Amino acid sequence: MKAEKLEELKQIADVCTKCKLSTTRTKVVFGEGNPEAELLFIGEGPGRQEDITGRPFVGKAGELLTRLIEKAMGVSRSNVYIANIAKCRPTEDLKMEKDRAPDLEEVTACSPYLLKQIEIIQPKVIVTLGNPSTKFLLNTQDGITKLRGKWADYKGIAVMPTYHPSYVIRNGGENSQVQKDVWADLLKVMEKLNWEPKVKIKWK
Ligand code: SF4
Repeated sequence: MKAEKLEELKQIADVCTKCKLSTTRTKVVFGEGNPEAELLFIGEGPGRQEDITGRPFVGKAGELLTRLIEKAMGVSRSNVYIANIAKCRPTEDLKMEKDRAPDLEEVTACSPYLLKQIEIIQPKVIVTLGNPSTKFLLNTQDGITKLRGKWADYKGIAVMPTYHPSYVIRNGGENSQVQKDVWADLLKVMEKLNWEPKVKIKWK
């Protein structure tokens, strides 16, 4: 039932022209994963690799997220659901060169797809990755540094904001303090879901 509803929504998004990103995209990146997922990750928008493949988080940042999900959390990526606020790639001046966060007009146009995805999937926990998805979902102007690691709520669903994998890569990558912070946040998520972490990590 959830799978069919998501597929119906995807078919609408696949031909969407509600904002200017439709004029430059290669593929709409709807999101992917288990329609029955207990855990939903939300990023900001597709990058180059995602635009080409039509799949979320498959570039460098995606590789890091996948490692965190599969190696640290110990679950298959296909068991969670991964989506973005913007379903088409936002780039500076729409030149398809340098990625940027979706602007307000794009978020306003595209976010109903994400909200519908949440309504259909009804995950137990949502992890927002970075500022745009956190600010949007929690309707706040506070930044990710202030909000990360603290439980919040979206319509009765527990929300854990954490850093975006791209930010981790830009700030030292593997074994950096930023990555340790992300893993610490994900440990709280696993505790909430009663999932056993696959690797034991000493924090701090
Ligand atoms: S970003 Fe969203 S609203 Fe804009 S064209 Fe793509 S699917 Fe439609």
